Parts: sequence; structure tokens; C-alpha cells
Amino acid sequence: MTSTQTTETREQRVERLRAQGLLVDRFGRVATDLRISLIDKCNLRCTYCMPAEGLPWLPKDKLLTDDEIVRLARIAVEKLGVDELRFTGGEPLLRPGLVSIIDQVTDLRPRPSTALTTNGLGLGKIAAALADAGLDRVNVSLDTLDRERFQALTRRDRLHDVLDGIEAAAAAGLQPLKINTVLMRGVNEDEAPALLRWCLDRGYELRFIEQMPIDGGHVWDRHQMITAQEILRSLESAFDLSPDPAHRGAAPAETWLVNGGPSKVGVIGSVTRPFCGDCDRTRLTADGQIRNCLFATEESDLRAALRGGASDDELADRWRAAMFGKRPGHGIDDPSFLQPARPMSAIGG
Ligand code: SAM
Ligand code: SF4
Repeated sequence: MTSTQTTETREQRVERLRAQGLLVDRFGRVATDLRISLIDKCNLRCTYCMPAEGLPWLPKDKLLTDDEIVRLARIAVEKLGVDELRFTGGEPLLRPGLVSIIDQVTDLRPRPSTALTTNGLGLGKIAAALADAGLDRVNVSLDTLDRERFQALTRRDRLHDVLDGIEAAAAAGLQPLKINTVLMRGVNEDEAPALLRWCLDRGYELRFIEQMPIDGGHVWDRHQMITAQEILRSLESAFDLSPDPAHRGAAPAETWLVNGGPSKVGVIGSVTRPFCGDCDRTRLTADGQIRNCLFATEESDLRAALRGGASDDELADRWRAAMFGKRPGHGIDDPSFLQPARPMSAIGG
């Protein structure tokens, strides 16, 4: 670090980063990780995410087209300093143009890293094409290895499809393959050690996510949530965990070495161990709204601007303005916390 930087105030830092055209906020955080929701629909109905009947899906004319998504990704990479793109949903594998979108965004320069978060249904068929198109990594959500529990949790009997998808993704070289797990009390809370053993045996990296108040059915209950501490206690009943010496940076997961390493396990304690101070994310919803936080209550409408003829520079300016006002934290533990009107499946998890 130079002597100028060490004496820089927060205001000076913010001004310097703004002058560089980056997605900086008032607190000096810079967003470089863009999460793009490709579709709000899903073929599972995980109880912590969606009600059994689904949700009122976005009408087709409100969804961004493939070309619009690629254009906004290009603006983010070329003008706003974004260097990582993660495609999510809803279920992103339901988007027909997915392979072509990946193909186009991996041609951007500087080349962004690309990742996909998926429930794995259908991944078996498309994993090789995604890898050929340039996709770097994949996270597959898997909450249980037990068929009946899977059916109860997702309201669909599709565990075998998810397992096929995971295997195909690993075979296609989409590594390191990460598994995302949400534990629920009285449902799969006892499965943490078995899931970790399963992942270690196959070379996958497991990350547990605390259940958050962002579901379409509004079923979240603070007292029912399995906390990061409980997850760690359960893992420690079967494994020796030690803090990972690697620098965490803006990663949401705190990681531990398992039995001395090199294998790791991660815990994303979004509720009890928030990491908002280091957040580097910006989000684009499937209908073209910028959100500066998963829990934001305001959005900035890029779709209307884009369809109204805005130039790349105008869109970039709107995006910067939307990020500048980001709040310091999600405030889930504040008495005044309000769950966002949009559920996670419509924002992009
Ligand atoms: N359908 C894809 C999937 O399930 O991976 C992508 C979208 S999903 C919304 C992204 C991630 O959010 C998944 O890992 C899912 O388990 C997680 N998720 C959904 N609802 C959640 C909640 N209420 N709390 C914590 N994580 C949640
Ligand atoms: Fe679908 Fe993913 Fe939500 Fe499950 S978590 S209902 S797979 S969007």
C-alpha cells in the first residue's frame, strides 16, 4: 500500500473509486460480482423457498431477452469493473438460451469468471455443453441424500436426477464443484455429517447456508432456523474442524479445514454471522431490475431504460447510482426488518 492510500479518508476512497467508474457505495464497498437471475420459474418447490402452488410467474414480455442479458453483462464487465458473473434463478437450466448466453459472455474482455447455481435437474444432459461454452464452475443445491426427505423438502421425487446432474457436471470438468445445503429443523438437521462425508468422498466442496427470511411462502421463523453454530457443532461430532488460514475476502462462506485439510467445509451464516461489510455483489433480476442487496426494498429499472433507448453509458450511470445507495447491512436482526416483497426465486439466490 502506498503512503497516499494509508492516509486516504473513506470519502476520498469513495471519490477515487467513483472516478474510476466502479460500482462503489457510500461505505467504500465495490461490487465486482454480478448475480443474474435468468428466470423466476422453477421445477422444484423447496419448502424454504416457494409455496407448493408456485408463485405468480413473470410474464414473458417482462423477462429480459438473451440479447438484453448479454448487453447488460457486457456493460457490467466493460464499464463497471465486474469480473465475476453467476447465473441463477428460479432454475437457470429452464432458460432455453442458457448455453448461448454463457458462450457470449465468456467472449467478453476482460473475461469474467462464470458460475451457475442450479438445483441440478437436467444438468446431466447439458453439463458438457455448458463446459464447452466456457462455464467455469457450478454450485448444485442438495439438502438431503434420502429420497423420501428429498421429496418432502422439494415436493418432487427427483433426487436421482440431481445426483446424475452432479456426476455429469464433475465429469465435464466444472470444478471445484460446490454443493449448497440448507438445513431445516425436524427435516434434515441431522444430515450434516453424512452430507459432508458424501462430498469429501467425491471431492466436492460443501457449504451450508442458514435459512433466510426471503421465501415466497413467508414460512421463515427465527426460532426454527438452524444456526451456523448448530451446524458446526453437528459437524464437530464427526470431524475435526480447524479455521481455514486462507484469506476469506468477500466470500460469504466461512470455511474450515476438515481433519487437518486440504478438504474444506463452508458455512454461510447470513443471519447470525452477516458479512455485509465485505459484500461485493450486485444483482440483476430476470425482469431487468438492479438490486444492490438480496434484502433491498428498492430496485432500479434497467429494463425500461434499455427498452426506452438508453445508451450503454446511460445504463452504466443508472447502475452506479443504484449501487451507491446500498445500505450498510441487511438488518434481519433489527425489529424494523421487513422481508422484501420479492422472494429469492425472483431475485436470484
Ligand atoms: N434453483 C437454483 C438452486 O436451487 O440452486 C438456483 C436458485 S436458488 C434461489 C439459490 C440458492 O438459494 C439455493 O442454494 C437454495 O438452497 C438457496 N435458498 C433458497 N431459499 C433460501 C432461503 N430461504 N434461505 C437460504 N437459502 C435459500
Ligand atoms: Fe427452485 Fe432453487 Fe427455490 Fe428450490 S431453492 S424452489 S430449486 S429456486
